[in-house]
Amino acid sequence: MSTFSNHNFSGEKALVRVDFNVPLDENFNITDDTRMTATIPTIKKILNDGGAVILMSHFGRPKDGPEDKYSLKHLLKHLHQLLGGETKVFFANDCISEQAQLTSQVLRPGEVLLLENLRFYKEEEKGDKAFAEKLSKLGDVYVNDAFGTAHRAHASTAVIADYFEKDKKMFGLLMEAEVISAEKVLHGSQKPFTAIIGGAKVSDKILIIENLLERATDIIIGGGMAYTFMKARGGNIGNSLCEDDRLDTAKEILEKAKQKNVSIHLPETSVIADKFAADANTKDCPSDQIPEGWMGLDIGPKAIGIFSEVIGKSKTILWNGPMGVFEMEKFQNGTKSIALAIAAATEKGAFSLVGGGDSVAAVNKFNLADKVSYVSTGGGALLEYFEGKELPGIAAIKK
Ligand code: AMP
Repeated sequence: MSTFSNHNFSGEKALVRVDFNVPLDENFNITDDTRMTATIPTIKKILNDGGAVILMSHFGRPKDGPEDKYSLKHLLKHLHQLLGGETKVFFANDCISEQAQLTSQVLRPGEVLLLENLRFYKEEEKGDKAFAEKLSKLGDVYVNDAFGTAHRAHASTAVIADYFEKDKKMFGLLMEAEVISAEKVLHGSQKPFTAIIGGAKVSDKILIIENLLERATDIIIGGGMAYTFMKARGGNIGNSLCEDDRLDTAKEILEKAKQKNVSIHLPETSVIADKFAADANTKDCPSDQIPEGWMGLDIGPKAIGIFSEVIGKSKTILWNGPMGVFEMEKFQNGTKSIALAIAAATEKGAFSLVGGGDSVAAVNKFNLADKVSYVSTGGGALLEYFEGKELPGIAAIKK
């Protein structure tokens, strides 16, 4: 059993770093509460043990001190509802003020205190030690449940851990699940291990592809970034997305893959369009023979067939980035088919991890989130993890 599950929080005040950075509409209604619901089991376990919970989070990008639109008070009502409506939830309108200290001191078992936005203090993002120490005084135990910010060495995500003894700092249930599934893919993958990388730009994904060349057996490349690779191989890509300053990098990646015996799969065919628009004229075309004036906006049926076959043979699957412009109906088939292939492989026993904003949006759009092994809540953090970097939020707890 994990450290968190084994820990009895009875009589303790747990200072929990969460990621409540949810989107709001202009009337301060939450439009997607996934990040809040994801951390509720952690909060409930502490409360059920007889502990009290002090929640801290960042929210938006305030520039210079407090701003009403970035106040976490807008989330208070919803938090109360998510906890079942019975739990007392207090709010401290400054995360390190005397009021915050006093409220945390008198907080009773089963009660929750939400601190105001940490980023109202510039010290948070600077990883300021004195600020971290002040925050640390609010709780007896530090729990980090914010995987989404694990790649930041901020005061509340990493520095603060230095002020707690080894047995008084731990991952929460969400963070733990994220770390376990990411480690399972990167360090404990059963082979064949297929990484599916898509999205718009090669430049965003170079480091992750290079690191995966050391671990994966197959790398499928789709989305806009595939056309830089097609051009690097000498193909005609018409007006498709291309980063000309990355052609050499693409060539090097293809060469390295050969040396390392990793199969790189590029889409042999594409759905091409005569403009970047939902009502464009479209046709199926080999990805290296795209005429001028046309652009590849999705992988074609032949590519879907080949990619699905590779995915079907895999025991471990990582998916980051869509195969096409899936936001438009005419160009969603590639992304949807790949999601279905991953779901089918998962049903046959493969371990599949989906992460990164747009692929998560895609599995949700096609109602396949519960048909894959794990959907990560961490965009940038997950990407950096798979680039092979040590995440400060993970390292701070483990050291
Ligand atoms: P990223 O944020 O790099 O993962 O890229 C995601 C975006 O890439 C999505 O908004 C897709 O619409 C876009 N995209 C995927 N395939 C293509 C393509 N072939 N051409 C242009 N944009 C694409």
